[in-house]
Amino acid sequence: MTIKRNPTRSVPIGSIQIGSGYPIAVQSMTATKTQDVAATAAQANALHEAGAGVVRIAVDSVKDAEALASIRKQTRANLAVDLQENFRLAELVAPLVDKIRYNPGHLYHHQKDKPWQDKVRFIIQQAERHDCAVRIGVNCGSVDPAKKEKYDPADSITPMLESALEHCEFLDSLGFSRYIVSLKDSDPDKVIEVNQRFARQRPDVPLHLGVTEAGMPPDGIIKTRIAFEQLISRGIGDTVRVSLTVPNNRKPEEIVAGRQILADISAGRVRSVVRLRRDQLNIISCPSCSRVENEAFVELAAEVKEMTRYAQQHAITIAVMGCRVNGPGETDDADLGLWCGPKVVNLKRGTEALGAFPYDQILGRLKQELDHLIAARTVGSS
Ligand code: SF4
Repeated sequence: MTIKRNPTRSVPIGSIQIGSGYPIAVQSMTATKTQDVAATAAQANALHEAGAGVVRIAVDSVKDAEALASIRKQTRANLAVDLQENFRLAELVAPLVDKIRYNPGHLYHHQKDKPWQDKVRFIIQQAERHDCAVRIGVNCGSVDPAKKEKYDPADSITPMLESALEHCEFLDSLGFSRYIVSLKDSDPDKVIEVNQRFARQRPDVPLHLGVTEAGMPPDGIIKTRIAFEQLISRGIGDTVRVSLTVPNNRKPEEIVAGRQILADISAGRVRSVVRLRRDQLNIISCPSCSRVENEAFVELAAEVKEMTRYAQQHAITIAVMGCRVNGPGETDDADLGLWCGPKVVNLKRGTEALGAFPYDQILGRLKQELDHLIAARTVGSS
């Protein structure tokens, strides 16, 4: 299949270029603790060897930034750093990496009185000084609150889109064009729609595609494949990540899956006539990263999938997240949500917190809630 790609500009990231003049790059993210230098360097190298064009590492503290300096010396992978709330860390990490990712929805937590424009200007100054690219990474679970307020809560797509476009315009106004954009959601249909709408307005900006919290293989790969097939076959997408909930030693499977999907699309082996079933149980779980607060999270995600099999025929979404950074926000849209702390797992029904439970009790408690929900819906529909 010959695919005519959108005419996106080229963005150099270390030894590769992202953009329509270059092959679509596959990337991933380390899930080890960043301060565990040996494990993180080993994982970055494993991802690089599997074919990762870029390897992203989360940095949330000065200690993480110090660890990154040692990791940098131990890998030849192109490195991206994932900044969440602490935009000031850009100054420490920019000399060490090839790309900085910031999330517009996370710029509000630190130095609340400072306008976001000043924070972004600071990040861009660091990127320019140290020869880095930038990704504006918009995520469904942490959209800029000012954008969310403007729209009907049922419309989750327009606030994401507006936030991305606003940041693009701001970077343009600074004369900085070495940036790419991502718009991620856990629902492949929303990923398709928001990226199509963005690409119509900004066909020049390279897009990083991904379905966030896609979950465990094979379901996580299937959800991602559906979105990638629809977008890439329309010429949209310059780099991709397949986010999978897998143990650390299996992280390179994200790269293998991404490469396979791209190879299948270019050979015309597409399967997305099969839409995701909307009348069935949907488990979403984050791919884990260095912010996971208890490694039991990956096992818990698998146990939730196993325990809930009996509810397969019910249109219920359960989200399982690994940490407090994105867990509380990204479980809001699920019918039932779990986000993992160091010792306890927090349980939610929609946006309502139901309490925190030890790891060995959470499955029983989740089952109770699931049974209530099924019973309530059965009564409601009879
Ligand atoms: S929810 Fe937390 S642990 Fe999971 S991928 Fe997102 S930031 Fe990482």
